[in-house]
Amino acid sequence: MKLSSLTIAEFQKGLRSGEFSAREAAESAYSIITERDEELGAYLHLLKDEALSSAEGIDAAVARGDELPPLSGVPLAIKDTILMEGVPTTAGSLALREYKGSYDASVITRLREERAVFLGKTNLDEFAMGSSTEHSAYYPARHPLNTAYVPGGSSGGSAAAVMSGEALAALGSDTGGSVRQPAAFCGVVGLRPTYGAVSRHGLIAMASSMDVIGPIGRTVEDVSILFDAIRGKDVFDATSVNVKGDMLPLEETRRMTVGMPREYFTEGLHEEVRRGVDMARETFEKLGMRIVEVSLPHTRHAIACYYIVMPAEASSNLARYDGMRYGSRAAERTLQKAYVEAREAGFGEEVKRRITLGTFVLSSGYYDAYYLEAGRVRQLIAHDFEEVFKSVDVLLTPTTPTPPFKLGEKTKDPLALYLEDVFTVPASLAGLPALSVPVKDYRTKDGFPVGFQLTGRRGRDGDVLGAGYAYEKSY
Ligand code: GLN
Repeated sequence: MKLSSLTIAEFQKGLRSGEFSAREAAESAYSIITERDEELGAYLHLLKDEALSSAEGIDAAVARGDELPPLSGVPLAIKDTILMEGVPTTAGSLALREYKGSYDASVITRLREERAVFLGKTNLDEFAMGSSTEHSAYYPARHPLNTAYVPGGSSGGSAAAVMSGEALAALGSDTGGSVRQPAAFCGVVGLRPTYGAVSRHGLIAMASSMDVIGPIGRTVEDVSILFDAIRGKDVFDATSVNVKGDMLPLEETRRMTVGMPREYFTEGLHEEVRRGVDMARETFEKLGMRIVEVSLPHTRHAIACYYIVMPAEASSNLARYDGMRYGSRAAERTLQKAYVEAREAGFGEEVKRRITLGTFVLSSGYYDAYYLEAGRVRQLIAHDFEEVFKSVDVLLTPTTPTPPFKLGEKTKDPLALYLEDVFTVPASLAGLPALSVPVKDYRTKDGFPVGFQLTGRRGRDGDVLGAGYAYEKSY
């Protein structure tokens, strides 16, 4: 039984027909982890005993002939920003190296009801700040196809685990692209749901007006199954909403109009990514969809806007890691010194950079010029989308401007790394659903996959999933 190539649907069939047991499936994932993870660094903590015993529980239910929910026995990897009760949750930071989740995140509660199996917690950039997983305080994650390259970030561990067969599917979180960009780099599918479509209760906050939890899987269908399990209103998150999340039926996707915003196809776009997206466009045309060029004129302000809003919110959210309530306590005896010491030792360079930036843009005298102004620009970006969605159903763009890059290539220049987010932050700022799908049968000259991004109307996650599924089934 080769877990490394199964989809969730195939897994369920195999489990029910007795082809393999849930325990065998979990063991097979752990054998790949043992073989590869020292090098890949996709996981921060493993939950082997718990995983094997919950798998045995499912096998017993199969033997009894019980009714099984759709995720029964599916071995999942969980990004280490998502709380599980009693389980280490570090967010990739030294500040939380001793912290254990004090409760289950709402997504975990739902997945437990679906009887999924949790293999472990995955590596990420510290507090989800980054695009390469090199900002993890523990060790970087690496690309499964070539370990000299990054898997993307910040959910790089989750994407690398799914690609390598160390998990069947995973959860990530996406503030400015952290599900979509690593999915694109690793040749897997990743969904950033509509803002609020998935409860944030129990997600370690980065920028609260953009944070969402999103599924990562091998196929659009898998991502849709996982999304169905975790989405919906939750009493513990007042911003949570119910969305139209059911995949649009295939016949209806053929009547879709697909917009291609010209601002995404500029000189910064790598030729090999452009070619990949072009191939995807041809497939959509063959499927009968109408392709039109559109304009999102404020796109060029998105990075600047995001890198004001995000650090402002992150600097407030990270204030709680003072070594008193959360974070490792310093030995200092006066309160002020203890705060400073805990934060100095607990946070890495990138986190400090963002706290500094955020504190600056929120400070009196600068608040109006930066934070308020960024809020206005954000409205303009959202308005651009509203206008184009009057005439198109989904937008087709690249997910990333470049293919995967080498470890160390961008660490010295933070701005170069921020530019990785150029195509993912607009949907984040506007709160829209966006799906990254790998271009079929395509590799760059260095051997890497390329992803394209489908962005949809707010609350209509089923549209991007439907269009992605139509693409997946087109061969
Ligand atoms: N790469 C982006 C950043 O560094 C996005 C991070 C995220 O979505 N968590 O902010």
